[in-house]
Amino acid sequence: MPDLLDDAAERARRYLGSLADRKVAPSPAAVGALTRLDEPLPQGSTESATVLQLLDEIVTPATLGIAGPRFFGFVMGGSLPVSLAANWLAAAWDQNAGLYAATPGVAYLEVVALGWLKELFQLPESTEGAFVTGGTMANFTALAAARHHVLKQAGWSVEADGLFGAPPVTVIVGEEAHPTLFKSLGLLGFGRNRVVRVPVDNQGRMRTELLPAINGPAIVCAQAGNVNTGAFDPVGDICDRVKRSNAWVHVDGAFGLWAKTSPGLKALAQGVELADSWATDAHKWLNVPYDSGLAFVREPGTLPAAMAIAAAYLPSGSGQRNPSDFTPELSRRARGVEVWAALRSLGKEGVADLVGRTCGHARRFAEQLSAAGFEILNDVVLNQVLVSFGAPEMTDRVIEAIQADGTCWCGTTLWQGRRAMRISVCSWATTTADVDRSVAAIIRCARQLGA
Ligand SMILES: *Cc1c(COP(=O)(O)O)cnc(C)c1O
Repeated sequence: MPDLLDDAAERARRYLGSLADRKVAPSPAAVGALTRLDEPLPQGSTESATVLQLLDEIVTPATLGIAGPRFFGFVMGGSLPVSLAANWLAAAWDQNAGLYAATPGVAYLEVVALGWLKELFQLPESTEGAFVTGGTMANFTALAAARHHVLKQAGWSVEADGLFGAPPVTVIVGEEAHPTLFKSLGLLGFGRNRVVRVPVDNQGRMRTELLPAINGPAIVCAQAGNVNTGAFDPVGDICDRVKRSNAWVHVDGAFGLWAKTSPGLKALAQGVELADSWATDAHKWLNVPYDSGLAFVREPGTLPAAMAIAAAYLPSGSGQRNPSDFTPELSRRARGVEVWAALRSLGKEGVADLVGRTCGHARRFAEQLSAAGFEILNDVVLNQVLVSFGAPEMTDRVIEAIQADGTCWCGTTLWQGRRAMRISVCSWATTTADVDRSVAAIIRCARQLGA
């Protein structure tokens, strides 16, 4: 075992060390060579060291350099060294984080980490939280609590009796809600299309004045951090308008909630703390390994009402917090360990610096690309930059060219009908020099294509 772990650590070190200089995207040849994996399941066993070597030989070259400093695709982020190392140690512990009695150490860590997160996000003291796989499941989990609450107010137990015959629940979202939010709503039986969509402005912010009148059970899903522009719905205004009618306000803050941690950015998230529930990702801006999302619910007891199970063979928390009372899963990995490690290492100032610094990088991208004559389509208020290189086909060709060039990796999007390159800066590892090197490569690719 020790030799094998040393071997894995050595291979990981070599990989991480290679990222500063290798192309961000894997070569077509490396992706093509994945067919080496198409073999029959072996009849007999193979040496563990050989298996590790195969993995490294075949799969390492076919990875995207997401862990490196110049990956700006989607909204991802890397892994802080301390969170990666904590992940390795936790994997060795092999704790099943479902029950306090079975795994007190990691259950305890979660309580501590949740307390810190509530403080960082300035959420009400009563708030309860859950460690889940990501933003999609964090929205699902918080909205399950919302569903419980609004139907209970209407005299209906959705956990016991389901949705057939239940009082109808009005679900309101912004026109620019994240695609996965519709999936979460669908999983909850609300339907992906049954929702009321509120029009948005040119940054994707919900237009509060167009919120419909609300009667009966209702859930309003606001957004902190649009996945294209980084813009925030006016959550304070939304709460002002709908709380009178007893609606539940949920905030999808997959990455935007982290703005709360930065003195320079928290004004963007003003009023977010007035909501009833929140979802965010740790694997995006906190830079912990996948998978790691967080759900928060203000009203104590509501998450457990939606999530807890009762079974004679499972020990109760006996006064301690049983993690599985708050999550869709029973058995799961102890993902709170990495969240704790990242927060313990960064401290409040370190988190604020990580968030603030990456936003500074995004502004630098926007300034330099704009100075080079290219159009920035969004107000760069956070870590997201949308760039047009002219006609849609030209923008697509520049994006293809930069991905093939390999200096950095940026993705594509359609923003309110316009094709754009989307640059998202989330990684702890990105430096100003990485931004400048990436901008130079983007401009070179664009000029070569005549943009
Ligand atoms: C990324 C994202 C999600 C989905 O999160 P996953 O962790 O990928 O499941 C939801 N909402 C927003 C705003 C996001 O940016």
